[in-house]
Amino acid sequence: MLRTVDDVKNQLKSFVDGLTGTPEKMADKKYQMDKKVGTLKYTDLYPHDRNGAVVTETMLKQLTDVLIDFVHETNDRKCKVLDFQHPEEMKKLLDLDIPEEGLPLQTLIDDCALTLKYQVRTGHPHFFNQLSCGLDLVSMAGEWLTATANTNMFTYEIAPVFILMESVVLAKMREIIGWNGGDSILAPGGSISNLYAFLAARHHMFPNYKEKGQAALGAQLVMFTSDQCHYSVKSCAAVCGLGTDNCVEVPSDEQGRMIVSELERLVKERKAKGQIPFFVNCTSGTTVLGAFDPINPIADICQKYNMWLHIDAAWGGGLLLSKKYRHPRFSGVERADSVTWNPHKLMGTLLQCSTIHFKLDGLLLSCNQMSADYLFMQDKLYDIKYDTGDKVIQCGRHNDIFKLWLQFRAKGLNGFEAHMDHLMEMAEYLVERIRTEKDKFHLILEPECVNVSFWYIPKRLRTMPHNQNRIAELAKICPILKARMMEAGTMMVGYQPDDKRPNFFRSIFSSAAVQKDDVDFMLNEMDRLGQDL
Ligand SMILES: *Cc1c(COP(=O)(O)O)cnc(C)c1O
Repeated sequence: MLRTVDDVKNQLKSFVDGLTGTPEKMADKKYQMDKKVGTLKYTDLYPHDRNGAVVTETMLKQLTDVLIDFVHETNDRKCKVLDFQHPEEMKKLLDLDIPEEGLPLQTLIDDCALTLKYQVRTGHPHFFNQLSCGLDLVSMAGEWLTATANTNMFTYEIAPVFILMESVVLAKMREIIGWNGGDSILAPGGSISNLYAFLAARHHMFPNYKEKGQAALGAQLVMFTSDQCHYSVKSCAAVCGLGTDNCVEVPSDEQGRMIVSELERLVKERKAKGQIPFFVNCTSGTTVLGAFDPINPIADICQKYNMWLHIDAAWGGGLLLSKKYRHPRFSGVERADSVTWNPHKLMGTLLQCSTIHFKLDGLLLSCNQMSADYLFMQDKLYDIKYDTGDKVIQCGRHNDIFKLWLQFRAKGLNGFEAHMDHLMEMAEYLVERIRTEKDKFHLILEPECVNVSFWYIPKRLRTMPHNQNRIAELAKICPILKARMMEAGTMMVGYQPDDKRPNFFRSIFSSAAVQKDDVDFMLNEMDRLGQDL
C-alpha cells in the first residue's frame, strides 16, 4: 500500500520517541565519550597519529551529537532563546583560559557543549531580533561540508567544483535581476559588496585612478545616498578618500524612501561647485524601516547626470525571487549598474553569504587585478578565466557558495519564492494583529518589507491621546521591556531610534521557523512582560 509522507513521518516519530523519551536538555546532559578516548589528546587524532581513525571518528560523532542537540533545542518552542548572563558572570561560567599543556578530548567536547549552552539560538522561532537569522538546515549541512573541504576560493586549481558552482549560481542571480551576461563575486558581507560597487564605479569613470590615485580625478568626487541608507555606504566615502562630507545624504519621506526631487537638487548644487557627482546608492529594503527607494525615477536622474546607479539590496534582495512582492519594489532594477544582494539575510543562507553583481563584464578584473605571479600564472593547464581570485581586493577568500548552491538545489526557485512569500505573510499577519490590538500596540508605518515598526503600550498609557508626550513615554519603555525579554530569555525583538522618532520596536521576519502562533506569542509575551511598565 502506498503511504503518504505524513504516515512515514508519524511512524518515524513514534519510533524516535520510543527510543529516547523526552529529549534531555543540553544543559543537563553529559556528553561522555568512552573513558579511554576521553583522556586522549589531539596527538591521538589524525593527522598526528596515522592510525587515528577510531579516535577521530569517536570524537567527531560525539561533536555531532552536541550539534544536533543544539538544532533540536533551537527548534523546540519550550526551550528558551537565550540564557542571558552579564559579561562578568559569563566569564565565571566559562573556562576560557589558554593552558600551557593541551587538554584532553573530553574537555574539548565539554567546551563545545558549554559554548552552545550560552549561545543565543538565532534560529529559534521566537528570535525576531536580526536581519540575518534562522537556521536553514540544508545551508548548515553545506557549511559543515565547506568546513571539512577547507579550501580557498582564489583559483580553480584548488577549488574546481566550488568555482563552477559560484559561476552558475551568480549567473542565475544576474538573470533574476534581469541582465544578460555581466559579472559578480561573493564578498565578506554587504558592506564590502557596497565597497566593490564604489570601486568599480570610480574605475569605470576614471580608469587611471588605479595607477595615478587622486591626481587622475581633477575635481572632488561626490556620492549620494538617502539618509536611511546602511552606514557602510558612508564608510565607502571615508575609506576611499572622498571624505564623508562628500557622501551627500538625500532626505527621505515619511515611509523612509529617498525623495528624488531632493536628489536632483543636491546633484545640481554640487555640480555648481565644480564637483563631480558620480555615484548614487539606491537602497532596496532599508535596514531599519525596510523601505524601498523608487528605482526608476532615481535611474532617470543617474542617466541625466551620467552617474553610476548602485542598488543596495543587501536586505530586500530576496524579494526578487517573489512574483508577488518583486513589483513595484524592484521595478527598474535591471537599469542598475551594480546590485548588492545578501543571501544571508532574507534567504536564510548561513552567515556569511553576500553577493555583488555588475551589469558590465570585465570591470571587476580590470579594477582590482594585481596579477600576483605566484597565484595567477597565465600559462596554466586550464582556462584561467576560472581563477576568480584576481577580481577581488582580498587574497584568500572563504567558500561561501556551497551552502547557497545546496539551498538552491533543495528549494528550487519555487521553494525560495514560497519562502519569501511566507516571510512577507508573517509580517502582514503581525500588522493585522497590531491593528486589532490597538489599545496595546501602535503601528508606526505600513511596512514594505518584513520589518514591522511599532510601540508597545503598557496599561497606564492606554487611555492617553497619541501625541509627542505619549511617544516620549513609549520610547522609554523599549529598553526596559527589551531587558525583561532578555532576562526572561523567552524571545528577542530589537529596538532603536531613528531621525524621525525616538526608540521603537522593529520586529524582523527573516527566519523560516516563524509561524502565526509565534507572532501571537510575541505580542502576548510583550504584554505579559510589559503591562505594568
Ligand atoms: C545589512 C545591510 C548591509 C550590510 O551587510 P553586512 O553583510 O552586514 O555587511 C548593507 N546594506 C543594507 C541595506 C543592509 O541591510
